[in-house]
Order: sequence, then structure tokens, then C-alpha cells
Amino acid sequence: MEIIEIIKEKLSIFKNLYDTVRIIDPINKKVMKFEEDETEVVEESCFRFWKTEGYCKNCISMRAYLENDTFIKMEVTGGKVFLVISSPVTIENKVYIVEILKDVTQTGSIINNEKSIINIESLIKEMNDAAIKDELTGMYNRRYINERLQSDINDSVISNKPLCVVMADLDFFKDVNDNYGHVVGDSVLKDFAKILSTSVRSDSDWVGRYGGEEFLIVLRNTDGANAFKVIEKIRKFLQENIFDYKDIKIKITASFGGYSIISEKITIDELINEADKNLYLAKNSGRNKTIINL
Ligand code: GH3
Ligand code: MG
Ligand code: MG
Repeated sequence: MEIIEIIKEKLSIFKNLYDTVRIIDPINKKVMKFEEDETEVVEESCFRFWKTEGYCKNCISMRAYLENDTFIKMEVTGGKVFLVISSPVTIENKVYIVEILKDVTQTGSIINNEKSIINIESLIKEMNDAAIKDELTGMYNRRYINERLQSDINDSVISNKPLCVVMADLDFFKDVNDNYGHVVGDSVLKDFAKILSTSVRSDSDWVGRYGGEEFLIVLRNTDGANAFKVIEKIRKFLQENIFDYKDIKIKITASFGGYSIISEKITIDELINEADKNLYLAKNSGRNKTIINL
């Protein structure tokens, strides 16, 4: 029997609880189909259902896969509100990510007219955004980094395109906190994040907050040499920039360590580790530097 049929049969007593069941390949962002002989056929993009251009930012199937747990979210498409449940299911020692979709437009008691669908749409968008973003800086959070980077590495392998990740770390940032206090320190972090995110291509690159004053810049389809140019531009901009908070004017530099791959099967940890090694070199050779393997 096809895997999807096995799963549907197992779920059949709950059939009023859902409208659609899909098996997702969260790394490749595809809906999996199964042939008679049960060889998996990875088919159309899973996000097509949501009529979006690219993958869902708050991808709970990826989360279910990475964290081996069940996750729930709401999504809106075409004026309809859906409850989405993603859960890892083991069949014959293999883990599948099962996504259960339920249209709750009519049955969700909070949704009773067109106006409230619009309200709930923005509420759901906010909720899904909050799940993947860092509250202070608005950059992607650590969880999103883990979920997204895995897909980007995979994309690079499949499409044979380069990928560069760069770890950025403010130089002597502790002194800002010590001299001006944490509130000013927070403002510097926010403004630094904004400089980073507005300096990269919004349609393909992205920035995440990796830790306190460390940010991860991911440049897709970019080799080491081009990444170096992009990052050097940021570094030089920052070197001249004055963070201006009324009476307080602050100059601060940053160090950058990057690692680029082309179609290389590498884990997220290995990739970040390589970038970190270069950041360490940049710090130890005087800071305010960019080191990326070419
Ligand atoms: P280095 O050039 O070696 O990177 O020196 P540094 O002072 O930047 O690095 P260090 O790791 O010694 O200090 C990092 C500081 O970042 C210490 C910590 O208090 C501060 N920090 C981390 N997260 C936040 C935050 O959310 N807000 C503020 N204001 N400070 C933060
Ligand atoms: Mg640091
Ligand atoms: Mg630092």
C-alpha cells in the first residue's frame, strides 16, 4: 500500500479533523508522492498550496523534521484560514513528515465575517513572523537560521551554485554597554542589524542574529570573491558611520569571517564553524577586517 494511504488509513477515525493530508520533504520543499512500488517521487513544491512565490518562512514541517516533534500553526490563503499540523510519523523505520490541513474559516469561532478574516490574516502573519524573528533587531532568529540554512545548503548542492555564509561580530561592543549603558547598546545592535540587512539583496540573501552581537549573513548564489566585495562595502561603511543618539555619538567597527561553498555537502555546524574560524582570524589580526576563503 502507498505510504500516503497507510497514513490516511491510520488517521481515518479522525477524518472530520482534517481536509487534506500531505507528506512533505521539508528540505527540498516538495510534496512527496508515491508510486505503486513505493519508491518516493518528490513532486511539486509544497508551498504552491499557499500561492506564495517562495517557501513559507515559518515552515513547521522543517521544524518537525529537525526537532522530531509536532508543531502547529495557522496560515491564510485565498481568504481562507487553515490550521496546519506537522508531525513526524515513523513507518517501517523511516520518518515521514505528515502535514494535516484543516480549513477553519467557517468553524473557527473567532472568524465570523469578512472583516475579521482580514484582521485574522494580519494577526496570523504577525504570529508567524514573530516565531522566526529576533525581537530586538527584527532579524531572523537562531531557529530560523537552522531551518533555512539547511535548505540553502541543499539548494547549492542541487543547483551547483555557490553559497557564502559570513559571521559578523561588532568590535569591542562590550565597551559600548560599559560606557553608555545597555539601552544605547541595544540601539547600536538594532542599527547595525539594519545596516547589514539593507546592504544585501532582499530577494535572495538574508541576515540572522546568531547570538548577542553576532549576526549571520547568508549570501546565496555568491562565491567567496563576490561575498568579499559585498562585505568589504559594509565594513567600510561602518568604519565611517556615526551612530547618532542625540548627545551620544558612537563609532564602532566590526569583524567578518566568511566561508563559501560550491555544491558542497556540508552540515550547518561545519559551515558555521569554518566561518567562525575566519572570524577568529579577523579578530586576532587587528579587528575591523574581513576574511573569507576565496
Ligand atoms: P570583540 O571585539 O572581541 O568581539 O569584543 P566584544 O566586547 O565585542 O566581545 P565580548 O564577547 O567581550 O562582549 C560582547 C558583549 O555583547 C557583551 C554583552 O553584554 C553584549 N551583548 C550581548 N547581547 C546583547 C544585547 O542584546 N544587548 C546589549 N546591549 N548588549 C549585548
Ligand atoms: Mg561576540
Ligand atoms: Mg564583539
